[in-house]
Amino acid sequence: MTTDAHGKVALVTGANKGIGKAIAKGLARKGFTVFLGARDSEKGIAAAAELKAEGDVRFVQLEVTHLTSVLSAKQLIESETGRLDVLVNNAGIGAAPGSRFNTPEEEIAENMRAVYETNVFAVVRVTNAFLPLLLQSDAGRIVNVTSKRGSLGEEGAWVGRPNMTYSSSKTALNAITVHYARSLAETHVKVNGAAPGHVATDFNGFRGTRTPEHGAEVAIRLAQLDIDGPTGAVFEDEHQLCW
Ligand code: NAP
Repeated sequence: MTTDAHGKVALVTGANKGIGKAIAKGLARKGFTVFLGARDSEKGIAAAAELKAEGDVRFVQLEVTHLTSVLSAKQLIESETGRLDVLVNNAGIGAAPGSRFNTPEEEIAENMRAVYETNVFAVVRVTNAFLPLLLQSDAGRIVNVTSKRGSLGEEGAWVGRPNMTYSSSKTALNAITVHYARSLAETHVKVNGAAPGHVATDFNGFRGTRTPEHGAEVAIRLAQLDIDGPTGAVFEDEHQLCW
């Protein structure tokens, strides 16, 4: 069962391309007013224009690592719609700019810090900025876009080249997801992780085997969970991943 999207508002971070854009498209098709977050205004405006036919899709400038940008985005959404029902924390990077997937022995701490800034710390910044609005919704939903690589107990966490920095950032994101879910357990807000699978995007040089639309499906489902739905869990498709 899913909630009725009519009149509801969603924000997707990092939505100018890839999985985020597909999530924005899918939520617009369901009837949400979607704020398409992008740090680059030109790219964000172009992506929102491309999705115009899907529904009410509006660009919002959003650099998730900058507090001023996050607060401006909140102000814009509040003034335009006065509400937020769904927050999808999708923006993410695989490695620090100029770096690559490193083994633990190769990695340097500064690279880790850069990846954690986007994949972990920014999620806390964005979530806390928008939480007051989400708490006013009768079905606030937070979806953190994670990766099976973050689930230490999953076989799929260890495929391909080892990447301690990216994988551990998603492990931290999963942990944060559980902490928020527990802390918000007595409210209407549910918090879950969505692992999209191996998706063909810029992120992996388009080597993924899934389309962005396929990868987006799990986040779109979790964004619409009804009151009996889970909280504090991570899913790939319908399958709940272990930690
Ligand atoms: P992508 O095509 O590279 O898209 C990443 C998006 O995040 C872009 O819109 C990018 O904006 C944005 N972004 C990065 N840093 C940002 C920042 N500081 N502020 C605002 N936006 C920022 O990658 P993707 O594959 O769609 O990845 C989306 C999410 O899925 C990520 O969290 C990733 O970890 C996760 N994921 C992907 C796969 C996969 O196989 N592709 C698998 C598992 C999980 P710019 O265009 O401006 O750089």
